[in-house]
Amino acid sequence: MNKPPKLDTEANLAETLAAERQAALARRPSRAEAEDAIRTLIRWTGDDPMREGLLGTPERVARAYEEYFAGYHDDPVEILQRTFEEVEGYDEMVLLRDIRFESHCEHHMAPILGRAHIAYLPDHRVVGISKLARLVEVFAKRLQIQEKMTAQIANTIQQVLQPLGVAVVIEASHQCMTTRGVHKPGAALATSRMLGAFRESASTRREFLAMIRGSGNLDD
Ligand SMILES: [Zn+2]
Repeated sequence: MNKPPKLDTEANLAETLAAERQAALARRPSRAEAEDAIRTLIRWTGDDPMREGLLGTPERVARAYEEYFAGYHDDPVEILQRTFEEVEGYDEMVLLRDIRFESHCEHHMAPILGRAHIAYLPDHRVVGISKLARLVEVFAKRLQIQEKMTAQIANTIQQVLQPLGVAVVIEASHQCMTTRGVHKPGAALATSRMLGAFRESASTRREFLAMIRGSGNLDD
């Protein structure tokens, strides 16, 4: 198995992501093979995949996986490529907070439930707000490490929009920690990635952090 190419802001992100997608699709097994694998797991847990209640399960699980991991089929760069250039000189922070997401950790394939906060300082180009939410979804609906997902979101925005700065904060709980292993319900992991002005200017960073601190109060 090849190691996935390294992701950093210097690399050509679009090409890296496209190559990863191609490679993944090339080694994708058939739906029937996937359902067989689920039958194997059912047998391994100690149950009988041929009993009535479990007969349709492999098919349902495969369909659920298509939803959980739909992000492998979308191009995150493409999502951001439609930008609006006429912003009437708007150069203040654009912030979308409390973007809920569901992901799966790549170590246990257990759910990660969380929210992302994204801000950027536009330099002539802005995107529709829904595109930021879509971007989160494309990276969330993959096998993930929270730290990597945080960096991927920030790097993609930086590379495609080329703003003066990007900030991404993700807070999430990992069911591999809350329902098994160390059993720490309520523990949330926070990760952040600051680029450009958010990295260099303490006051810009403070403004962003103050704006997301009230998060969670608006609608839930
Ligand atoms: Zn895990």
